[in-house]
Amino acid sequence: MNSAILLDGKTISGVIREEVRAAVEALFQKKRVRPKLVVILVGTNPSSQIYVRNKKMACEKAGMISEIIQLEENVSETQLVKIIEDLNADHSVHGILQQLPLPQHIPEYKIVSLIDPKKDVDCFHPENVGRLFLGHPLFQPCTPSGIIELLKRYQITTSGKHVVIVGRSNIVGKPMAALLLMKGMLGDATVTLCHSKTRELFKHIQSADILIAAIGIPEYIKGSMVRDNSVMIDVGINRVPDGSSFRLVGDIAFEEVRQKASYITPVPGGIGPMTIAMLLKNTLFAACQAG
Ligand code: NDP
Repeated sequence: MNSAILLDGKTISGVIREEVRAAVEALFQKKRVRPKLVVILVGTNPSSQIYVRNKKMACEKAGMISEIIQLEENVSETQLVKIIEDLNADHSVHGILQQLPLPQHIPEYKIVSLIDPKKDVDCFHPENVGRLFLGHPLFQPCTPSGIIELLKRYQITTSGKHVVIVGRSNIVGKPMAALLLMKGMLGDATVTLCHSKTRELFKHIQSADILIAAIGIPEYIKGSMVRDNSVMIDVGINRVPDGSSFRLVGDIAFEEVRQKASYITPVPGGIGPMTIAMLLKNTLFAACQAG
């Protein structure tokens, strides 16, 4: 029975984090600058709290300074705007990350548009998104660049291949398509971007050399849908009940699909840790640019 090679994001992200740690130390020795990331969290969404805590821990392990600004769910838009303006003006802050989603009374687009593009380590500012789509990114969006980096470290090229992305969000699907369409060995893909209104979704999935699932539905992609020897990238992080607790599963039915695929990412331990590693890289880059 075939069993796909595991794309081990946990191990690879550890290697990248070590590379970042060494570069952070070198920056400090040379310029006495320590990269600083500030994460703003509004409300008490349990998943967001875990993500934010993990980001802070990863920064600190890499020798960076990290601060979380925790705000009440009912914080006003004016208060949040003032906080971002202050962070923009603070030269000791190199990266600003607004954890999403925001409560309904605060417009997401307006808030991410206020972050200084040079400190926009998540690559959400319209200027940075525009640069990305024009093929001249300042920052690489964290989850998509984590996927590219993981493929690179396993010497899986995308040039000329058909990559099918399921999910068209601003955080994963759209920037993923932009990176894959860039010229060069880690781009040059033929990209199909699918979503909930896509007709004949299974036909698209069947035709993929590389499938990237960013849907948010537990184990939606079944073994019967995928093509033999394709590469399976699972971005999904879904909590499913497990006894009195819960466990995390992706958007791909891992056990079934691994029998057919050539490579597959696990959940957890695949794209999640790669995303954090790319955030560290972006924060380091922002500090180097500022210094
Ligand atoms: P969104 O909810 O913003 O987007 C989901 C996308 O999936 C939408 O484009 C939606 O289509 C599409 N979709 C939903 N149902 C179907 C369906 N039946 N068939 C085809 N397409 C469908 O989610 P995100 O992109 O923010 O996140 C997706 C998943 O990835 C989540 O599990 C999230 O937790 C995880 N995630 C993981 C990260 C990591 O670091 N590993 C980072 C970011 C997200 P439509 O646009 O038409 O509604």
